[in-house]
Amino acid sequence: MAKLLEGKTALILGVANKWSLAYAIAQAFRREGAGLLLTYQGERVKETVEELGAELGAAHVFECDVTKEDDLVRIADTLKSQGRLDTVVHSIAFANREDLSRPFVDTSREGYLLAQEVSAYSLVAVARSTAPLMTGGGAILTLTYLGSSRVVPNYNVMGAAKASLEAAVRYLAHDLGPSRIRVNAISAGPVKTASARGIKDFSKVLEAVAGHAPLRRNVEPAEVADAAVFLASDLGRGVTGDVLFVDAGFHIMGL
Ligand code: NAP
Repeated sequence: MAKLLEGKTALILGVANKWSLAYAIAQAFRREGAGLLLTYQGERVKETVEELGAELGAAHVFECDVTKEDDLVRIADTLKSQGRLDTVVHSIAFANREDLSRPFVDTSREGYLLAQEVSAYSLVAVARSTAPLMTGGGAILTLTYLGSSRVVPNYNVMGAAKASLEAAVRYLAHDLGPSRIRVNAISAGPVKTASARGIKDFSKVLEAVAGHAPLRRNVEPAEVADAAVFLASDLGRGVTGDVLFVDAGFHIMGL
């Protein structure tokens, strides 16, 4: 059977370690035949991501802090000389730890803006710099969470950032649709990653999902990754501007 992403090139932002959702996505994309380009935020994770990139057969591993416009421009310039880009996976978020534990009403102006910049605006910046490379059409994916539209205690400032991110998905889908570029989000159920560990009482969220989700369990990163394969592949060609839940069905529950 033909591989679903054969001949496609994917830029994946947000691999920090083996637990990152972006890492599971990179593994699934490789399984399906995609060429991979990875990014890392800074020196702290450079070595780890370069090792993971080598293991995954990535063609390039770039430094990219999404708050730095120059980093995005540099990547776009490098890629321009190397041919077409088909898929971009934006798997990035950040908020100050104290804003993921104290009451939301106490969120500082700086903390709110930081979460918005890294976790939501960055999708717009990434789309602007990479869309011109998607000359044959393409797919942009991002990762979101139920806390965008429901109150999940302690998710707080990140909930506001994810609401903004999901709105950005819709507006980008509208802008880029005529260029045959689709823009979608996957709303993943909770997964124990470095980012998730920053949320106070995260283990209680895992317990609640395992107890109440229709499938009575949490999701595996590989399940999120397979949904990403679908959205990035031609199987997802009619889907844009959407949020696809991969959360064992938890979001349908009222009680
Ligand atoms: P993760 O492994 O910690 O990934 C988050 C990534 O964001 C890291 O690679 C981190 O890099 C990167 N990042 C933060 N600030 C950045 C910046 N300024 N520039 C570039 N990269 C930056 O955690 P994850 O859970 O896989 O998160 C990936 C995405 O999935 C996030 O959008 C998250 O909100 C979303 N999500 C996660 C869950 C969950 O339960 N885990 C559920 C739903 C959605 P550094 O580590 O180097 O800072």
